[in-house]
Amino acid sequence: MEPLITANYHTHSKYCKHADGESEEYAQAAVDSGMKELGFSDHTPYPFPEGYYSSFRMYPKEMKDYIADVLRCREAFADKLEIHLGYEVEYYPRHFEALIKGLTAAECDYIILGQHFTNNEYDGEYSGEGTEDEGKLKLYVDQVSEALETGLFSCLCHPELIHFTGPDEIYKEHMTRLVKAAIKTETPLEINLRGLKFRSHYPDALFMQIAGSLGADFIIGVDAHEPGDLHPGREYKEALELAEKYGLHLIDRLKLKKPAV
Ligand SMILES: [Zn+2]
Ligand SMILES: [Zn+2]
Repeated sequence: MEPLITANYHTHSKYCKHADGESEEYAQAAVDSGMKELGFSDHTPYPFPEGYYSSFRMYPKEMKDYIADVLRCREAFADKLEIHLGYEVEYYPRHFEALIKGLTAAECDYIILGQHFTNNEYDGEYSGEGTEDEGKLKLYVDQVSEALETGLFSCLCHPELIHFTGPDEIYKEHMTRLVKAAIKTETPLEINLRGLKFRSHYPDALFMQIAGSLGADFIIGVDAHEPGDLHPGREYKEALELAEKYGLHLIDRLKLKKPAV
């Protein structure tokens, strides 16, 4: 029998401007897949300086619509699915505190960390760009670790989004620090199914070797950008095979932490 995915906490929505489908369609797809829990975690609305508008996240003024959408879904599916309201959040040191204040003043069950950029996206570096620069790897690991230390995150998404193409020993040294920070703060790492869907540079073999040998917890995350992603046949099977191969400790539910200031 095909193994079933019972929970997914990494789900986007139309509000981020690069995902398709209504929230209800995601919820229905989760039910059809046999899931018991679905967490919406769209790209967080960041309070950026005047005049800068991010192209891949909801605007702050759209947040109330996103919340209303997810809460409506929660009610409509109450007898079939446990629905959580969350956000995928980058740790941009300059703006992080204001962001968390805004999220917790509104409504937020949990946040997951996806460090798509270091520093921030208007004068920082995209993490997924191939680089041999140890400085960039170090900065990514420093900022991810600092973010985890806040204790606010329920999971670290695609931890190996940083695409370091230099020597393995250097990668190993820094990523060991990242894995240790995750273990210390009891933050599960994600096996990202979107990376498997698009044959991206993650999940990464060396990273899984490191994390597997240190005994970190792993959760499978769909990173859904369309409702159909919640039927992750091939990718889910591959993720289970990777977990087996690298001796990863898999968990199937997250302990969601409600962020507070
Ligand atoms: Zn992401
Ligand atoms: Zn995502």
